[in-house]
Amino acid sequence: TSEADCLYRVVLLGDPGVGKSSLANIFAGIQEKDSSDHLGEDTYERTLTVDGEETTLIVMDTWEAEKQEEDENWVQEYCMQVGNAYAIVYSITDRSSFDSASELRIQLRRTRQAENIPIILVGNKSDLVRCREVSVEEGRACAVVFDCKFIETSASLHHNVQELFEGIVRQIRLRRDSK
Ligand code: GDP
Ligand code: MG
Repeated sequence: TSEADCLYRVVLLGDPGVGKSSLANIFAGIQEKDSSDHLGEDTYERTLTVDGEETTLIVMDTWEAEKQEEDENWVQEYCMQVGNAYAIVYSITDRSSFDSASELRIQLRRTRQAENIPIILVGNKSDLVRCREVSVEEGRACAVVFDCKFIETSASLHHNVQELFEGIVRQIRLRRDSK
C-alpha cells in the first residue's frame, strides 16, 4: 500500500458549543489552546497505531471556521465534499444539537450520495449526567436509522475520545479491505 492509502481526512460536524474543538484538541494532544504545531488553524494530523497498523488521520475542525456569512457557506460545502470520514457531534445536554445532527446526516447523504463513507454519531459531554436531555438509547437508535456508528464521549474527562478516533480508523479499514 502507498502512503496515500494510509492518510485520511476526518471532518467534525455539529452545532457550535457541542465540543468539536475540545475533541480535536485531545486528538492532537494539545492540552491548552496553542496554535503553534498544527497544519492550518483548525486542522490536526496524527498517526495512530490501531490493531498493530499505522494510519494517519487529518482531523478538520473547520465546520465553523469562517464567521463571515458568505464564506461560511463555502467552507461548509467544502467540508461536506472533502471528508473520508465524518464525526457528527452533538451534546447530550442539548436536544437541539441532536436534531441538528440528524439534519447534518441527511445533508451529508445528499452531498455524497453514491459513496459509503464512514460516519460516527458522537454524543459528547457524557460527564454532565444531571443536564442530560438525550438518552443513550435515543442516540443509539438514531445511529441505527442513519446506518452509522455511535459513541458517547466526554472531552472533559477524556472518556472514549481515543476510542472514537480508533473506531473511525477501523471503519475506514473495513471499507478499504472490502474493495
Ligand atoms: P465547539 O464549538 O463544538 O468547538 O465546542 P468547544 O470544544 O469549543 O466546547 C464548547 C464548550 O463546551 C467549552 O466550554 C468546553 O469546555 C465545553 N465542553 C466540551 N466538551 C465537553 C465535555 O465533554 N464535558 C463538559 N462538561 N464540557 C465540555
Ligand atoms: Mg470549535
